[in-house]
Amino acid sequence: MHKKSREEIKLMKMAGNIVALVHQEMKKVIEPGISTLELDKIAYDIIKKNKAIPTFLGYAGFPASICASVNEQVVHGIPSKDIILKEGDIVSIDVGATFRGLVGDGAWTYPVGKIAPEIQKLLETTEKALYNGIEKMIPDTLLENISAAIEDTALEGGYGIVRQYGGHGVGHEMHEEPFLFNYRTNCTTIIKQNCAIAIEPMLNLGCDEVHTLADQWTVVTDDKKPSAHFEHTVIATQDGPLITTKLL
Ligand code: MG
Repeated sequence: MHKKSREEIKLMKMAGNIVALVHQEMKKVIEPGISTLELDKIAYDIIKKNKAIPTFLGYAGFPASICASVNEQVVHGIPSKDIILKEGDIVSIDVGATFRGLVGDGAWTYPVGKIAPEIQKLLETTEKALYNGIEKMIPDTLLENISAAIEDTALEGGYGIVRQYGGHGVGHEMHEEPFLFNYRTNCTTIIKQNCAIAIEPMLNLGCDEVHTLADQWTVVTDDKKPSAHFEHTVIATQDGPLITTKLL
């Protein structure tokens, strides 16, 4: 777990600001009729305009700047001109920006027009799980406390928890140590001061189980029920959790 210097923290906040700018725009433009490829183009342009690199583009061969995962798609959906959002859908947008070598990583699930109340509740609970986890991002405490806060929030709502994916250290690389489970594992890792972790609960309306489609990227729920994903990059400072993926 790498402790960030003052300079690295400053750059991570700048990278995170660009991620937040993308999400600010996603919130505005996501509506019935837009394709996920158009969303990708908008995100790419914002990242480039801010002199950053789209972290996802080319990562392990991923072909886009955002992951756009619709409804039962959990994560890693590939933007496409053929995926047109429609009223009642949800779409999870995950985006990374690298600014002067440091990464910001953040995801949000957006409603497309008016969505069903039970899906709205899933989104609210997953966002709540994220913030409950963030509260536990305190130096010299157990990393497991974050996992427990997310698990408890999910179970209160009766939601499935995605087991195969989770949060991760972040900094010069998008994926650094440690891995952060979204449920208890009796992990004894201690959070170090000024370390950065991308906290990212993925909750399902139905079962826990997911699988990857033939495109080798898109992860979907086994029961085809909707899934939500909320993520912030967070630094454990002595003054408390610092979210980098927000507007400066
Ligand atoms: Mg992440």
